[in-house]
Amino acid sequence: MRKLSILIYHRVLDAPDPLQPGIVDRAVFDRQMWGVSRFFRVLPLAEAVNRLRDGTLPRRALCVTFDDGYRDNVDIALPILRRHGVHATFFIATGFLDGGCMWNDRVIEAVRSLSGDKLDLTEFTGQRFDLPADLRARGSVLQAILRAIKHLPFAQREAAVALIERQAGRTVPGLMMGEAGIRALMLGGMDIGAHTVNHPILSRLPVAEARREIAASRQTLESLTGRPVRLFAYPNGNPGLDYGEAHVAMVRALGFDAAVSTAWGCASPGSDRYQLPRFTPWDRPLPRYLARLALMRLRPPTMTGSSVSAAACDATGRDVQDH
Ligand SMILES: [Zn+2]
Repeated sequence: MRKLSILIYHRVLDAPDPLQPGIVDRAVFDRQMWGVSRFFRVLPLAEAVNRLRDGTLPRRALCVTFDDGYRDNVDIALPILRRHGVHATFFIATGFLDGGCMWNDRVIEAVRSLSGDKLDLTEFTGQRFDLPADLRARGSVLQAILRAIKHLPFAQREAAVALIERQAGRTVPGLMMGEAGIRALMLGGMDIGAHTVNHPILSRLPVAEARREIAASRQTLESLTGRPVRLFAYPNGNPGLDYGEAHVAMVRALGFDAAVSTAWGCASPGSDRYQLPRFTPWDRPLPRYLARLALMRLRPPTMTGSSVSAAACDATGRDVQDH
């Protein structure tokens, strides 16, 4: 059975960040894209989805995707992708194109700057966090903080983030790309997909608002690019937790061709094309990264919506970043 590996990335940093060891930097990403172009058949996601359905998928088929719309995707990832002839699809949350900042990045930069040895979030989560001075040790506390507030109702999460920023005494400089970034990606031969406007957890929204989020992001991207936008990525993307069947039906009814989740695994001909699984090997040495890519293809197909895949996600050592 032919399988399709769809890789998911968010940021590519200029240099390693001890606070976020799970995020690739320029050198690591360069090696990974060399390996991917050398050992896999990289296809545009739109083409791969059609060939998966038609049964014409080539051996070792692989797609690269990026979520959210970080500026480093344009400044750092794009030249690397072009150098290795790797196509990628970028899912953009359009509400941040005007210089906004995603909540998780606000927390990351605030936690980096906190000078005390404790962060008290009892008001929101019932927890108080120790803050080690060493950034690498602080990184695992950061992941626990992100996990603790990620699924709070929007207003409460905003209040928690604002409290952390107040304690840190700093806010983050803009990290997201602008409209020029979208144009640069298009000129570079890449594809653009929709990822809502404000990156909400769809399952927490009233149905009409969820539909508006999905449709409006596509409309903005279509007017920016002058092309149809046919691919969608669910914010955060855990099936059954971050989105449900109603949202899958919505995406289909709105006329998208396919959508991707963050269920962990490879797609197969039986996969729901509106809930295609994705993954990224977390290994840094290239041979291990490539071995993990190969091993993933041997696993049984990911059953979208199963709690097993969500648990496997957490066991991989992935950062609990936005998805
Ligand atoms: Zn996202």
